[in-house]
Amino acid sequence: MTAAAGTGGVELAGVHARYEDVDVLLGVDLSVAPGELLVVLGPSGAGKSTLLRVIAGLEPAVRGQVRIAGRDVTRLRPGRRDVSMVFQSYALFPHLTVADNIAFGLTVRDTPKGEIGERVRRAAEAVGCAALLGRRPAQLSGGERQRVALARALVREPDVFLLDEPLSNLDAELRVETRAELRALHDRVGATMLHVTHDQTEALVLGDRVAVLREGRVEQLGTPEEIWRTPATVFVARFVGSPSMNLLPADGPLPVPGIAAKPDLLIGVRPEAVRLGDPTQAGPGHADAAATGVVQRVEMVGEDAYVYLRLDGHVIAARVPYASRPDVGAETPLVVRPEDVHLFDAKTERRAATP
Ligand code: ADP
Repeated sequence: MTAAAGTGGVELAGVHARYEDVDVLLGVDLSVAPGELLVVLGPSGAGKSTLLRVIAGLEPAVRGQVRIAGRDVTRLRPGRRDVSMVFQSYALFPHLTVADNIAFGLTVRDTPKGEIGERVRRAAEAVGCAALLGRRPAQLSGGERQRVALARALVREPDVFLLDEPLSNLDAELRVETRAELRALHDRVGATMLHVTHDQTEALVLGDRVAVLREGRVEQLGTPEEIWRTPATVFVARFVGSPSMNLLPADGPLPVPGIAAKPDLLIGVRPEAVRLGDPTQAGPGHADAAATGVVQRVEMVGEDAYVYLRLDGHVIAARVPYASRPDVGAETPLVVRPEDVHLFDAKTERRAATP
């Protein structure tokens, strides 16, 4: 691929979109740097696909502005925007060979014949499907179809790639493998990419930055580390991480040394940070603060176990080594260190400063 591919950034300012009378995007501001891989993460129905379609020009922005490579494209037709979109369904033409599928976008743009063959070959090589050029989609596995769809996007050498859940049709093992390949491909071609997913692991692994989308608004934009370590809202805190972050009222059943038991605060603790067993092991101050939970359920996840404990009407998840899991029904002290606590305002559900 040429180094010129994907050198433009994307900017959205106050973008609104709607289908008939339903508002789907409610003022999205987003800036994707040239060459950045930005993951748009959110639950189903959040507006992720719509966001990509607005950037591609397949849906109009009813308000706001879309800029690609510094150019206002808000009113431009899709064909004039210099973006390539890869759909979840791949949308390959069944009656065309892989080579003709990849070439399609060039053929309809009247690219000279001699040039097409060479560009198709390079794109196919970039995604590792050069050996498949003579086949038809029906003769390909899901992973191979996915590569062809990527090659078809790559061959046009656009400013921006828009990827709509491109890994979701792959089985778990292939998804992990293809995820790594996609990242390597991005780094090789230096392209600007927006990648949509509902899978929080995929978002953290793949993105330079992650935009968490909720009900048509960007809830948080940050590096994977920022999203993980300092979730801006209760929604982000719960959406990223599995099992989800535990959230309890600060004046509830899990006292943490140094954290005020105020009713207007929520305490968030990741399952990885809940310690089970002898509270004095956790350091000074913990002996008094320990709470006792009753083990409801234990799930084996390889070397670790997810342990769910009932604590005064709340269920707390803890992730512990499987070898040291407590038995179901056991009463177990649990402690949390103050440095592992996330605090949120109970009313606004926004992050509050830790004391
Ligand atoms: P996501 O990609 O995050 O799952 P979408 O952008 O596909 O979300 O959809 C956002 C909302 O818009 C959903 O409530 C969905 O039902 C609605 N929607 C999507 N496409 C259409 C359409 N063509 N007509 C009407 N409503 C739509």
